[in-house]
Amino acid sequence: MQSRRHFIRWSALSLPLLSFRKAFAKRSAVTKPIVVSTWDSGLPVNAVAWKVLKQPNGRALDAVEAGARSIEDTVNCCVGLGGNPDRDGKVTLDACIMDDKFNCGSVMALQHIKHPISVARKVMENTPHVQLVGDGALQFALESGFQKEPDTLSADAEKTYKEWLKKSEYKPIINIEQQQSKGQKTKGGPFAPNFFDDGTPNHDTMGTIAMDAAGNLSGACTTSGMAFKMHGRVGDSPIIGSGLYVDNEVGAATGSGQGEEVIRVAGTHLIVEMMRMGKSPEEACKIAVERIVKINPTKAKDFQVGFIAINKQGEYGAYSIHHGFNYSVTHTDDGGKVFMAKSVFPKK
Ligand code: ASP
Repeated sequence: MQSRRHFIRWSALSLPLLSFRKAFAKRSAVTKPIVVSTWDSGLPVNAVAWKVLKQPNGRALDAVEAGARSIEDTVNCCVGLGGNPDRDGKVTLDACIMDDKFNCGSVMALQHIKHPISVARKVMENTPHVQLVGDGALQFALESGFQKEPDTLSADAEKTYKEWLKKSEYKPIINIEQQQSKGQKTKGGPFAPNFFDDGTPNHDTMGTIAMDAAGNLSGACTTSGMAFKMHGRVGDSPIIGSGLYVDNEVGAATGSGQGEEVIRVAGTHLIVEMMRMGKSPEEACKIAVERIVKINPTKAKDFQVGFIAINKQGEYGAYSIHHGFNYSVTHTDDGGKVFMAKSVFPKK
């Protein structure tokens, strides 16, 4: 009797301990360096960041900036000066960056500058401020030695804008239906497309988060914002705690999608706080996405938000409202992999 009671008591105590050990064993495997970016278009961005991360003493901060710059350089892309304009035909760019010591910088509605992410870094490093907007951001960029680029649309953006002008329908919604209607294959593999039927990317943001070999986290987020937005509109992407958040003790998160909805829940800050409470990156992203959906379940059927996160153990995860949000992960020399995020609403 004594030994049976002893056995029962031992089992009751040891089972949770065993599952704790199992969970701990799984979660203690540190993957670093590592870089994770939104979308499959994040794969080449990761490749650039990876080169920095692989160098002795390569810093996550330099890696995410280099990655963001590479996509800002891409002509006819959804990010940078090649991105889609606002409804007045002007390309206005938003970007932010955050390091492992809560330093952060941001530019909003910046025109004429090729690398808003680097201006954001200069705001972080060379000013007492966190955010600069519009003309003030441009003035600071020019004073900091950035070159003023002409006000011309990329060929793709011009085509898309002209098409949009035919109806001038003011509906700056990141609608997922067109994405799901076509089984187009993307570079990363047979994933649901992130493109309109004419091949134009239906998203405008590159979020990149990384942990370097020293275990320090940083993130960068750059965007031309939602296509055909009102002039002066700013989304979540350059807002610390919405489009990007980094806490070096816990983890980092960024995302893409309908910025207004992300701002409402301070999405990436929420995710990092959830990871602080012990949630995995995927669970934390899921909680943030579900909170957005809960606020407006009907509207959420029509717009997309996707988040990605990494934690201090180098675990990564993602979650989106709708099927179709994918993300790129690189932590070896193998060129990285694209994963489809789980979603609240399944593939239609
Ligand atoms: N989050 C961006 C914004 O609202 C858009 C996007 O991710 O495509 O400006």
